[in-house]
Amino acid sequence: MPVSDAVSETIGDDDTASGLPLNELFYSVQGEGKLTGTPSVFVRTSGCNLRCWFCDSYHTSWEPVYAHCSIETIIEKIQSFDSASHVVLTGGEPLIHPEAVALLERLNELGYHTTVETNGTIYRDAPIDLASISPKLKSSTPTEENAPADDVDGWNKKHETERIDMDALGQLVDSYSTQLKFVVTDRTDLEEINELVAQIRANSTTTIENEDILLMPEGTTREQLADRQQTVAELAIEYGYRYTPRLHVDLWNDAPET
Ligand code: SF4
Repeated sequence: MPVSDAVSETIGDDDTASGLPLNELFYSVQGEGKLTGTPSVFVRTSGCNLRCWFCDSYHTSWEPVYAHCSIETIIEKIQSFDSASHVVLTGGEPLIHPEAVALLERLNELGYHTTVETNGTIYRDAPIDLASISPKLKSSTPTEENAPADDVDGWNKKHETERIDMDALGQLVDSYSTQLKFVVTDRTDLEEINELVAQIRANSTTTIENEDILLMPEGTTREQLADRQQTVAELAIEYGYRYTPRLHVDLWNDAPET
């Protein structure tokens, strides 16, 4: 599974009161979305309110591992990457943590461009330059057959009930520059994507262009992506949406901290 299954000793510090539970913090290139290829510091929080069966950050959701890190220590680690100007706050679901707002405010004060990668179920008022919203489709719901853990333990129902929050989606779209990024497993997802896009457009006052709607192939290894990427690119052409690769998988396959 990608993402770290053990937390670096350098991440944790003693300040658990005001910190964030981090899985990893690293410098790489953005692999997905409109900023693909942009060198960025990734701050990956642990913990998620959903459980996609295909989760590409298993150790932030199904089996979360983390250490708490204070906001100031996170800032120091980000500043240690001298050439970095972009920061990606990702997860898990980073917006389940109220402390994410304090981090985003500090990053804004320091002049960093911030992307927040979110599943779109939670709205927070924070300085965010790009909200990368990935609403989860029916095809993401875990079952006894597809879940990566033995015990789905109620997550099937919780995931299905909570995966779309139209109020939060509308607020996010109206508050921030956004991209809507859908993980596509096959052609049958497109009907639901079209319906969701229509609902989000009806529920917000902001114009959502088709180029803001991204189709991304499901898959966490080169082999899995190879099976799907052409189909998803052809669907993007057919529907007038944008295709996004998973460049980090192409470059580094399944490795943590990429
Ligand atoms: S919403 Fe994202 S982090 Fe949460 S389970 Fe799904 S893919 Fe994983």
